[in-house]
Amino acid sequence: LRVEMQNTERLRVISELTSVFAHEIRNPMQATRGFLQLLNDPDLPLNKKEYIKISIEELDRANEIINDFLSFGKPSVNNDEKVDVGYQLRRVVNIIQSYSLHHNVKIHTDINEDCWMYANHQKLNQSFINILKNAIESMPNGGIVWITCTSTDDGYIKITIQDQGIGMTKKQIDRLGSPFYSLKESGTGLGMMVSFQIVRSFKGKIQVNSEKDRGTEFIILLPRIS
Ligand code: ADP
Ligand code: MG
Repeated sequence: LRVEMQNTERLRVISELTSVFAHEIRNPMQATRGFLQLLNDPDLPLNKKEYIKISIEELDRANEIINDFLSFGKPSVNNDEKVDVGYQLRRVVNIIQSYSLHHNVKIHTDINEDCWMYANHQKLNQSFINILKNAIESMPNGGIVWITCTSTDDGYIKITIQDQGIGMTKKQIDRLGSPFYSLKESGTGLGMMVSFQIVRSFKGKIQVNSEKDRGTEFIILLPRIS
């Protein structure tokens, strides 16, 4: 239990620090990336081209880590407000649209608005984005992601995010959310950790149903304002 507490505390500090610095770090990284591209002269010797390529890849990797923590909005203090989850989900779908098209993935939604809860909408959206990104990435040849949002009779808002992707084994599901657990070539292994932590902080729950080579369903339950 003690270890668990220390971990939670550590993760809280990590995510808060990241929120504060992410935007400030992104700008100089972007500038550096731009100049590296300018340096990439066609006449350069091969080994120098390779150094530039590696530098750009490493910058992109750092940017991915920031995205998994904070792809949404400016950092904000921990201020919970009344949030319409359905409305926020629609915003998330809009934001991820170009990413999904790029992956040949269509997003179908059945979202009821008027699903209210207390939350920080930027954190909430970050947790949706990380799950949705994984759903899209799970279908290397494209496909459909279904998103639903409804109120339940027992006081929850129920969000489902379903893909037809590569799926997971039981073992893989159990490891979801551990820091740096990733099966992707250039994954961060931070997205699920962040999503789980955010949902937990709002007293919500995440269930995962998955079948290898069939697909995955994330069910997110969040306490609604009655
Ligand atoms: P990353 O996406 O950077 O790998 P995440 O923490 O977001 O890190 O996800 C961890 C791992 O969980 C992924 O690498 C993937 O193996 C697995 N995973 C998460 N969501 C899905 C999904 N919808 N379908 C299949 N595998 C998934
Ligand atoms: Mg991810």
